[in-house]
Amino acid sequence: MTAPLIDPFARTIDYLRVSVTDRCDFRCVYCMSENMQFLPKKDLLSLEELDRLCTAFIGLGVQKLRITGGEPLVRRDILKFFHAMSRHLEAGSLKELTLTTNGSQLERFAADLAAAGVRRINVSLDTLDEQKFADITRWGRVPQVLRGIDAAAAAGIPVKVNCVVQRGVNDHEIPDLCAYFRERGHPLRFIEFMDVGNTNHWTGDRVLPAREIVGLVHAHWPLEAAGPAYRGEVATRYRYRDGRGEIGIISSVTEPFCRDCHRARLSADGKLYTCLFTSLGWDVLGAARSTRMTDAGLEGFIRRIWRGRV
Ligand code: SAM
Ligand code: SF4
Repeated sequence: MTAPLIDPFARTIDYLRVSVTDRCDFRCVYCMSENMQFLPKKDLLSLEELDRLCTAFIGLGVQKLRITGGEPLVRRDILKFFHAMSRHLEAGSLKELTLTTNGSQLERFAADLAAAGVRRINVSLDTLDEQKFADITRWGRVPQVLRGIDAAAAAGIPVKVNCVVQRGVNDHEIPDLCAYFRERGHPLRFIEFMDVGNTNHWTGDRVLPAREIVGLVHAHWPLEAAGPAYRGEVATRYRYRDGRGEIGIISSVTEPFCRDCHRARLSADGKLYTCLFTSLGWDVLGAARSTRMTDAGLEGFIRRIWRGRV
């Protein structure tokens, strides 16, 4: 039994968000530029490297793996990766294997993902309006995403719907979105619009603060606060008082959640970030490749990074 890995504030590493590709079949205006340049394949984590790094993190205490991107389901060998990770679920060393997706490929992948042990999926959808969706995602189609959500539900995978709220863009649609997804039993998670670099035209006046989002929903369907579903949950949850489900709000702009953060993220090119929002990453892949690190060396390297976390 190895010593538990804790940072200087006694926070363990419970959760790893893994970006398996930087590519995407959408170009959401707040995330990527239209002529986005992607990394060459040689700079990305191979399937073997992804497996090795994730296995090392699980050995150090990670219990939840969230697979994301870019768009994870456009990576060619992605199902192999999910199947590889399912061995950790079977062994009990990993508690949850989850996915965040734009939903474009979900219809064809849903059954296989369920078979690989995926028990929760977050699908991103900011609007039900076809034209607005095309304006936001540039290349996305609403019916395709809705079919993906239906396919995941039919495969027995609970779906949450992520909705980035922008004032003046989709804030007036919040009641429609709630009505649609309440009906179908999928919790909505509203995300405050974040500044993710200089390509997304972020301005503070576009941010609809969490309390305004809650107020808007509450005016249609009264809400009551629900506690966190697990320690360190980033979404603040509210139940509909009529018992028809719940919503969550991710208020990373107005109320950052650092104090109880047990999360790290690994980028598609193998950089480890000990905060979901920092741009300063540790080149784990570079170190592992250049020194032909042993598994013990890799574990020690990750330990030192986490122990130096602030
Ligand atoms: N392609 C997948 C998707 O869209 O779900 C996974 C990757 S995407 C970067 C993960 C989440 O980040 C999505 O829910 C997306 O809406 C959200 N996101 C991207 N840019 C954002 C921004 N500027 N502010 C808030 N959320 C953002
Ligand atoms: Fe970014 Fe996800 Fe939109 Fe792709 S679908 S551009 S990764 S937010």
